[in-house]
Amino acid sequence: MATPDADRHQYIALLLRLGARAEEGRYRHVYCNRDLNQAAIEWIGFDMDYTLAVYKVEAFDTLCHRLSMTRLVERFGYPAEVADIAYDPSFAIRGLVIDRALGHVLKMDAHGHVDRGVHGFAELPHDDVEAYRKSPPVLSQHRYDVLDTLFHVPEAYVYSAMVDYLEGIGTHVDFEKLAVHVRYAVDSIHADGSLKSIVLADLPTYIKRDRRLGATLHRFRSAGKKLFLMTNSYIDYTDAVMAYLLENGPADYKDWMGYFDVVVTGAKKPDFFKLDTPFAILDKDGRVAGEEHTQLRRNVVYQHGNLREFTRMIGAEGDEILYVGDHLYGDILRSKRDSKWRTAMIIPELEQEVATIAAVKADLDAWERAEAELATVREAMLLETEVRFVMQHPDEVGFDAWTDQEREEWRHAAAETVRNSDRLARRARDLVADIRAHADRVDAHFHPRWGALMKAGNEHSIFGQQTERYACLYTSRVTNFLAYSPVQYHRAPRLHLPHELDP
Ligand code: IMP
Ligand code: MG
Repeated sequence: MATPDADRHQYIALLLRLGARAEEGRYRHVYCNRDLNQAAIEWIGFDMDYTLAVYKVEAFDTLCHRLSMTRLVERFGYPAEVADIAYDPSFAIRGLVIDRALGHVLKMDAHGHVDRGVHGFAELPHDDVEAYRKSPPVLSQHRYDVLDTLFHVPEAYVYSAMVDYLEGIGTHVDFEKLAVHVRYAVDSIHADGSLKSIVLADLPTYIKRDRRLGATLHRFRSAGKKLFLMTNSYIDYTDAVMAYLLENGPADYKDWMGYFDVVVTGAKKPDFFKLDTPFAILDKDGRVAGEEHTQLRRNVVYQHGNLREFTRMIGAEGDEILYVGDHLYGDILRSKRDSKWRTAMIIPELEQEVATIAAVKADLDAWERAEAELATVREAMLLETEVRFVMQHPDEVGFDAWTDQEREEWRHAAAETVRNSDRLARRARDLVADIRAHADRVDAHFHPRWGALMKAGNEHSIFGQQTERYACLYTSRVTNFLAYSPVQYHRAPRLHLPHELDP
């Protein structure tokens, strides 16, 4: 009998042949952490940057790096040569942490343990990583900067490159001051328009265009969903980027604004969720022309605004709203408990990550088998120690009360166990070496310096934890939703506590 999965694939194949579906790549799934019934969703909101507008990271980060270095020279008087340091797009991944006290960049797991790190461009020595065991970083402290958006990946490189350069020329580096300067430089190139003006002059170089975006939004709308755009970018930039993303879409839409029932720019997330800033109405020239407190209308661009008035004016409950964004942690999650919005997280790196998991499957399986065997071997070694103890202290365990035959049988079995102990110790050593080799090979496939994005050792990385905790759904791009029904019931895999797996 066919499995439901086989049925599903057959229907998808038929839809594909009819052209009603986009291809369903195995790396394009929508993954589910918490059950979500799209039929119960009335409004779907989209973030723009790194959600609808996904940047071409190599070109964009190279530009961020160049402008930030120049800013460091011009604003803070660092030597002019730093502006010539080339960008290395493979240096960092999302979710790293700058330690402003020591000048290190760290990868950490969800329990606050440092997994590995760099100082400048050099790998952090084992002893320095171990030193964090005594006082694990507390990320809420000012001492640490968590670089948890794709916009901030180049910042890890800018900081490390500066540490490397300044120490290389024998300068005493104030790591804290350098971190403040680097943060200022990256922040200011975003905020003062210098980055955006270059991007706007050449959008195809810096932003990917997914030709299925219009169809994806249209499909939601056809199923009766209301859509909104909520971006921290301001109207000039938003207008140009959205027009670029959605030009040549379905004929039903005169322009990009037509896809959305509400458009909020300069939303100032996460303050949007916490403060009471009113909605400003923008006129055709993008100038503030008044405030809105009654009704949010189509074909009007709003600026700022706040959660309370937003939900009142659109007339929706929090759990009828699905917010699709790249930075749930920063954008809404700190206020998630208040807002109750459901969430879908866009993680462009996921396609590469899933492809890598498939490529290293054999190693991962062998690694898991080796871990399981090592656990058994270690348990046997502990038991062997206990056997030795009993052999040396027979009076303490009532051995003398046994019959001669029982004693003889026990001695025989115990001698055999002890003879095995060398073999067990050798096996444990081999398994530890095997596990290290598997782990290194797996890591090198993901990222030679940092390993997997979502994992740190056997634990979730900080970013993996953010994804698990705060994203009801997650996927690599918005258009992946096209391969699902607009009223899809997403179901999370059943989670087990360890005792449930112990039959
Ligand atoms: P959104 O993702 O559509 O809400 O927009 C994010 C906006 O934040 C973009 O306009 C970015 O240029 C901007 N942005 C990202 N990082 C920084 C920063 O460090 N400082 C200031 N603005 C930033
Ligand atoms: Mg964003």
